[in-house]
Amino acid sequence: MSKFPLLASLLAFATSAAQADVTAAELDAAAATLEPRVVEWRRDFHLHPELANREVRTSGKVAEHLRSLGLEVRTGMAHTGVVAVIEGGRPGPAILLRADMDALPVAEKTDVPFRSTATGEFRGRTVGVMHACGHDAHTAILMGVAEVLVKLRHRLPGKIVLVFQPAEEGVPEGERGGAPLMLEEGLLDIAKPEAAFSLHVGSALNTGTVAIRPGPLMAGSDFFRIVVTGRQSHGSRPWQGVDAIVTATQIVNALQTIVSRQVDITELPAVVSVGAINGGVRHNIIAETVEMLGTIRTFSPEMRQDIIDRMNRIVTNVAAANGATAQLEMMPAPNPVLVNDPALTARVTESLRAVLGADAVKTSGLLTVAEDFAHIARAVPSAYYWVGVTPPAQDARTAPDNHSDLFYVDEAGIFVGMRTLLGVAVDYLQAAPTAR
Ligand SMILES: [Zn+2]
Ligand SMILES: [Zn+2]
Repeated sequence: MSKFPLLASLLAFATSAAQADVTAAELDAAAATLEPRVVEWRRDFHLHPELANREVRTSGKVAEHLRSLGLEVRTGMAHTGVVAVIEGGRPGPAILLRADMDALPVAEKTDVPFRSTATGEFRGRTVGVMHACGHDAHTAILMGVAEVLVKLRHRLPGKIVLVFQPAEEGVPEGERGGAPLMLEEGLLDIAKPEAAFSLHVGSALNTGTVAIRPGPLMAGSDFFRIVVTGRQSHGSRPWQGVDAIVTATQIVNALQTIVSRQVDITELPAVVSVGAINGGVRHNIIAETVEMLGTIRTFSPEMRQDIIDRMNRIVTNVAAANGATAQLEMMPAPNPVLVNDPALTARVTESLRAVLGADAVKTSGLLTVAEDFAHIARAVPSAYYWVGVTPPAQDARTAPDNHSDLFYVDEAGIFVGMRTLLGVAVDYLQAAPTAR
């Protein structure tokens, strides 16, 4: 028996209050309080977009904010990446939350008051720069999530690794960066996360809705180059040469039979596209060489390899049939398929439903765009979801797409992003959906 029963019970009460689970109502209130500042941050980033591997101002603002929260901040990962760890008040698992920070070489055409007029250098040219993929919203959302979690940290178990990643959209020629480089620089050694989460704002969904699916979500993407070599001759005497242009057109057409005739499209879809074809000098010279550039999108490593093998067969043999030679070259550093861990996705879906209601959580289709978070998802069980940012009154099927110069983010969707990510993180750490 304690000599001081009142003191003992007060202490017990204080301890249990400090360790009481964070509730949904608390997250609602914290997110609502912070919303105006998160929107302000997002507008600031929108006004000052920076291209991949050049996110100097953006990452500076992020680091400044994280330091103001009392966090120890690691900067300069993969050039401009910023990482900080929030230590919970109790033992528990580490999780990773990731936002991307880079903008695109797009000249903005929206009429928002904070429309970007920024320019940057892209492939040696001066171009307009715009947050046409919504990474400004992602960065602001994670800054807001960080602030809320720091305030609740004493009551949370485990650790949260905050990752602000550069260069999701791909690096300038000759450079490296993005998620693969952060991983190489030891991102996962910082706190050994057992689960990773990320989100993307998208025009294809209305504000208030989100979309997720277990298993493959976004395609693996490969870039390829084909060089066809024939023999130059006078355009009036093609029989004296080997026409690289005619050979190339046959290769392009034959490549189209891979998806339409050779792979089992009932299993998973795939895309093979030739996007550039260059060859020849003038009207009366039979071209000696043609270069073609293209992309493959696949949803499984097996189908990817099968398609590459079939492409090799077509390229080599169609060229041979024409008396030419041709070579298929796969570009280095392909993006893997983004795979959502099924068990983790089930938990995240539950959290999303708890925040937004079951009807607001859609099942995403397979998306043929790629996302470099796939590299992280290959190393750590992950769940990635889409957050709608097309105003409810507008048809999301016809709204200007991500990467369009008219891409528009309904700022109410930023709150949805922040609140859902908070729910996903806190539910995971507390090992149960937050109580209402
Ligand atoms: Zn993008
Ligand atoms: Zn994006």
